[in-house]
Parts: sequence; structure tokens; C-alpha cells
Amino acid sequence: MAFRQKHLLGIEPLHPDEITTVLDVAERYVDLNRQADKHSDALKGLTQINMFFENSTRTQSSFELAGKRLGADVMNMAMQASSIKKGETLIDTALTLNAMHPDLLVVRHPHSGAVDLLAQKVNCAVLNAGDGKHEHPTQALLDALTIRRAKGRLHRLNIAICGDIAHSRVARSNLMLLGKMENRVRLVGPPTLVPQQFREFGCEIYDDMAEGLKDVDVVMMLRLQKERMDGGFIPSEREYFYRYGLDADKLAHAKPDAIVMHPGPMNRGVEIDGTIADDINRSVIQEQVEMGVAVRMAAMDLLARNLKASREEANGVMV
Ligand code: ASP
Repeated sequence: MAFRQKHLLGIEPLHPDEITTVLDVAERYVDLNRQADKHSDALKGLTQINMFFENSTRTQSSFELAGKRLGADVMNMAMQASSIKKGETLIDTALTLNAMHPDLLVVRHPHSGAVDLLAQKVNCAVLNAGDGKHEHPTQALLDALTIRRAKGRLHRLNIAICGDIAHSRVARSNLMLLGKMENRVRLVGPPTLVPQQFREFGCEIYDDMAEGLKDVDVVMMLRLQKERMDGGFIPSEREYFYRYGLDADKLAHAKPDAIVMHPGPMNRGVEIDGTIADDINRSVIQEQVEMGVAVRMAAMDLLARNLKASREEANGVMV
């Protein structure tokens, strides 16, 4: 099976075949998750620790559920109450946890690069659950699975990613994944939130929604990441909604069967109109959440297989 990674730190190091492998394995978990008995033994005997240094609703709960459905012992570290508050460095915390012999460490951190650093210090597989403005690989993989299931393919699609690109790790991971799978990606938003340097990803940039959404197959909306903004990037939320918020009029520029996506959490009436978000004929936002559990199960299953193989190799067992 084509998946050779020791960690899942980002989309950047992944080969397109590895992306396809994760999605194919995830498909099997979509089926399992729809059964009455949702259990598998893929992570039996293994310990998964979730360390979230930043708030999370969907990502943390779906990693927890994914680990439990695969039979792992799952522990959620309460980072607010941890020794980080007492001044312990990230590395010391990681080394402390490492001494407890975890097999999978799921980490979210507000600083770009922090998860990579941590992965260098521990002996287990590390999964990046979002680091600063850098990457959010499982989000891009679950988005890819949602698109592949809705459109029947994951190549040669026209995809618009709209809104606060500058502060979004979701946008970066998606840009890389969708580019690797040979799609045409457009970025749409005000120039303050869509820096021109994003052209290096090979995408087109628009500051007008009507032009940017013209004939696209997929419309992906992003939240204004206010927690990462240190100045005035938009005149007002009302004005922003008027120009860039997705409503029926703006969506009418996309293909008639275009799907609407959002990674959550959504700000209704800011980047998206509530009616569009709830329109089951256009919005796949709930499917994204469902795919999130399956993709996280697939990623942990594949990493655990590689971890077991490398441990057996280190112990001199033929694999
Ligand atoms: N949940 C996503 C993230 O953690 C998107 C967002 O927060 O807007 O990056």
C-alpha cells in the first residue's frame, strides 16, 4: 500500500498516490461508521494522546472518536490545566508524554512549525491537527474525500477557495492537495486577505466574487480568522458580507451543480448566508464532518501500520 510516512505533519510531503491511499482507506471507514457496530481492531493495544493547545470542536472530537472506534486507548490532555501554564516548554511537555510510551500523538498548536518540532523529539507517530497558519492536513484530506464523493473525481475540477486565505492553514493545505491532484484552484477575497504571494501555488486570484465563482464546481468558504489578525483587514463585517459573503446571488455564478463547503466553525451572516449553509441540495458541510471521522481513522490506521513495521524491523523481526 502506498503510504510511507512516519508522521502526518502536512500535505506538502505527500505523494499523490499517498493521498489516494488515505482516501481509499477512509472510504472503508465511511462504511464502517454507518454500521450499528462501528468497531475495528486497527489500533488495539495502542495509546493515542490528543494535545490541543488551541480550541477545537470538530477536529478534537473526531480524532477522539476515530481512535476509540479503532480500539486505541485515547487520552485527551487538558492543555489549559497542564504544566504549560506553569512555564513548561513545549519540548519538555513532549518529552514527559513520550516517557509514557504513546503510539500516536495528535497535536494542535497556535504556532506554525511547532508540531514538526515536537515530532523530532518523540518516538511515536505525530499527527498535525492544525499548526498556526501553516497546515491542517486532515482537514484537506476530509475535504478531498467529500469532493471526490460528491463529484465522482478529484482531478480537473475548478475550485474556488474564498475569504480569509492569509490566516488560514485550511487554505494552505487545500491548495497543496488540490494542486497535487491536478485541479484548477482560484482564490477569491479582498486583497488584504489574499496576498499575491499565493500565486506561487499556481492559482488564480480574484477580488470579485462574481468573477471568481464563474463556472466553478466547488465553492469553499473560509472563516475570518480574527484570532490571527493584528489589524483592520476589513472595513466591517456587514460590508464584508455584502462583498464576499456567500449568498444565493453570488452562488448563481458557479455551475448549477456546484457544491458549497466550509470547514467550520461558521460565522453565519459574515462569510456565509445561513440559508445556503443549510441547503441540503448545495451544502456538503455536514458530509465534511462525517468524512472527518473516517479520514482520521484512515490516517491513524496507516501511520500505525508503518509504526508497527518500523518497530518490528528495529527488533530484528522480518516484515
Ligand atoms: N477549524 C479550522 C481550523 O482549525 C478552520 C477555522 O478555524 O476557521 O483551522
